[in-house]
Amino acid sequence: MSKNVSIDWSKLGFDYMKTDLRYVSIWKDGKWDDGKLVEDNKVTISEASPALHYGQQCFEGLKAYRTKNGDIQLFRPDQNAQRLNRSCRRILMPEIPVEKFIDACMQVVKANADYVPPYGTGATLYLRPFVIGIGDNIGVKPAPEYLFSVFCLPVGPYFKGGMAPVNFTIADMDRAAPQGTGAAKVGGNYAGSLLPHENAAKKGFADCIYLDPATHTKIEEVGAANFFGITKGGAFVTPKSDSILPSITKYSLMYLAEHYLKLKVEERDCPIDALDQFSEAGACGTAAVITPIGGIDVGGKLHVFYSETEVGPVTKKLYDTLVGIQFGDVEAPEGWIYTVK
Ligand SMILES: *Cc1c(COP(=O)(O)O)cnc(C)c1O
Repeated sequence: MSKNVSIDWSKLGFDYMKTDLRYVSIWKDGKWDDGKLVEDNKVTISEASPALHYGQQCFEGLKAYRTKNGDIQLFRPDQNAQRLNRSCRRILMPEIPVEKFIDACMQVVKANADYVPPYGTGATLYLRPFVIGIGDNIGVKPAPEYLFSVFCLPVGPYFKGGMAPVNFTIADMDRAAPQGTGAAKVGGNYAGSLLPHENAAKKGFADCIYLDPATHTKIEEVGAANFFGITKGGAFVTPKSDSILPSITKYSLMYLAEHYLKLKVEERDCPIDALDQFSEAGACGTAAVITPIGGIDVGGKLHVFYSETEVGPVTKKLYDTLVGIQFGDVEAPEGWIYTVK
């Protein structure tokens, strides 16, 4: 059904574009229907849907990559399926069987294959799966019905013209509570992040760094990405906390740091007053891939890691290894790559 599309791949950013088909499945009377591909990109739901009033909704983000030989592959979609289900459990929504989730992603990529950017452009096809509580409801209680959908759009490389470090400041608000929903990819977390992001941007920073909500002494997240630092002794360090969103990119980098780069890996506290232990720092996630952190503004003073303009050697190596695997140029650990057939 897909036609050849004319897109200037080099001009893509991270903006919505309607592609040909999206997958939709409905949960009703205790079960999911078979799901189908539809052309309409509008979702028509009851005005009383809990997703609209009480934030009963969650989402995922993953990418499809075109390899050198023209194949299309997904990076660890099973991990996204499992995380979606953890989010669903946290806000009392029905889970999606992992095979159903992966099949939905595969169907959407195949149906929109013409939108998967060519190898070598650095651009990818971004997939956005989501689950929302729908149906007639007014009280604060779980929805009577649910919608699971996956749509996709081509996106450009995060950095045009190569990786470049950016600066961050400390958030003036929290994104999560100690036993709240920080570890779930639920919409409410992101509505709450819009204002602190804007405050950081107004001061000239790329985004804000969230500290732990209980003591405000330890780094948790970098905007909507996870934090990592490379110590002067050459260890890959990333914070451990129940209110961090567990980034699949982060756990992948931990594996690559240990097994491909032979670094020591530590998941532990990263106190904001001990930044000088790190010679490099970065933010990681599906959208950002790896964003090198130039410096962090702490109380009006910029702490610079490697450089404000240049990328550190370990960060660069991690980036090349991860992206090499995603585009099929570097051999992947077993089970990480799903070829779209
Ligand atoms: C999605 C997300 C990430 C990154 O997770 P990936 O699985 O690596 O894409 C990190 N932090 C937050 C808050 C997120 O929403």
